[in-house]
Amino acid sequence: MPPSRTLIKTGSVVTMDASRRVLPGGALIIGGSSIESVLSAPELAAMPRFEGTVLSAPSLTAIPGFIQTHIHLCQTLFRGLADDLELLDWLRLKIYPFEAAHSAASMHASALTGIAELIRSGTTTIMDMGSVAHEEEIASAVEETGIRAFIGKAMMDANDVYPSLRESTEDSLRSTLAQAERWHGKAGGRMKYAVAPRFVLSCSDRLLTEAHAMTASFPGMLFHTHAAENRREMEAVRKRCGADNIEFFEKLGILRANTCLAHCIWISENEIALLRERDARVLHCPTSNLKLGSGIAPVPELLSRGVSVSLGADGAPCNNTLDMFQEMRHAALIQKPVHGASAMAAAVVFELATRGGAHALGLAAETGSLEPGRKADIVLLDLGRLWNPAEETNPYSAIVYSGTPENVRYVMIDGAWVYRDGSHTTLRPGAIAGSAKKELRLLLDRVH
Ligand SMILES: [Zn+2]
Repeated sequence: MPPSRTLIKTGSVVTMDASRRVLPGGALIIGGSSIESVLSAPELAAMPRFEGTVLSAPSLTAIPGFIQTHIHLCQTLFRGLADDLELLDWLRLKIYPFEAAHSAASMHASALTGIAELIRSGTTTIMDMGSVAHEEEIASAVEETGIRAFIGKAMMDANDVYPSLRESTEDSLRSTLAQAERWHGKAGGRMKYAVAPRFVLSCSDRLLTEAHAMTASFPGMLFHTHAAENRREMEAVRKRCGADNIEFFEKLGILRANTCLAHCIWISENEIALLRERDARVLHCPTSNLKLGSGIAPVPELLSRGVSVSLGADGAPCNNTLDMFQEMRHAALIQKPVHGASAMAAAVVFELATRGGAHALGLAAETGSLEPGRKADIVLLDLGRLWNPAEETNPYSAIVYSGTPENVRYVMIDGAWVYRDGSHTTLRPGAIAGSAKKELRLLLDRVH
């Protein structure tokens, strides 16, 4: 049987292709899980009769689905329970005890809650850091909801880590390898694996180097960690490692093109040069950086030096949303008082949220733009409603500076509608909210 075909007629297609075309009145043809063609209005008018399903959406704007390269689904239940703390206290007093108290059921509820929010706010691909235990619950939530994801299991073996989250180096490596073998490439390639040593202070040197070495056995596997996030953390890193964070990774030989580093706020000139030289990827989380008081990453400098930068919301308790519109807005606004109003223009930020994310994850041939042959990861936005008559002339401004999750009407991932006309198709939000509430109550009982 030939794959099902869908024609989506739009008000506008923001392609993010090589020439960044925007096609007013354009259309997309989806065949199976991929984009078959992208049509301008004249091409659509000249097209012979279409055999397949037609979605007529003349008031909606099609964009590539957002790509969030740094997420902690295991923390979604903890939203609002760890506010107004700095990173190391936030981890020690709140997040580690909460994560350690997860059961399989609470982990599943946490993952579903996060994915529901991500999908309804237009995110189609994520990279998740996972937790030490119950990682399979995040994997199964990814599998059943249809989101595209790199999953991982947070690895921690250092002595000063919260005791019930600490594993032996061998156990951590063994269970990571087992998960990687089980999930990398699953769901028709929609699921991939990223080894995830949590951050330098929670890992032995051996764990860091052997975790990176593991990626060599799996094509497309990534190395996902945090780096240079907080000043107090950096003092401790210097004391333990005798070097700054990025320099230390270089010394260990783990700074590579598949090395994805969340934050990178407190980095030196030399470290920016190293990031460029090794083509390592910076995962910028502006809202989390503001809320934890961590600082402002030097993103304009990184971009001008040719370093890969993409965006992520980090976890719900340090943000407190998983909404890419807020990440884009903050990514733009926090640089302007320092670098001037022209820094981080809307089109630049939108690029980080789409093509930049795909590049960071090694998925540039699959997603991040609307082009023939790419996977059909598409979001349809209602931008014009009520207050934005200029959206047709500058969709990037309408999306980055005025956009909210309320604008998201449809989301397709891998050729399947996961959100249609304002409703989830793979998730039942009422049931998820009920079980999230129940599981959080049980989890907090286990903490106290
Ligand atoms: Zn994080």
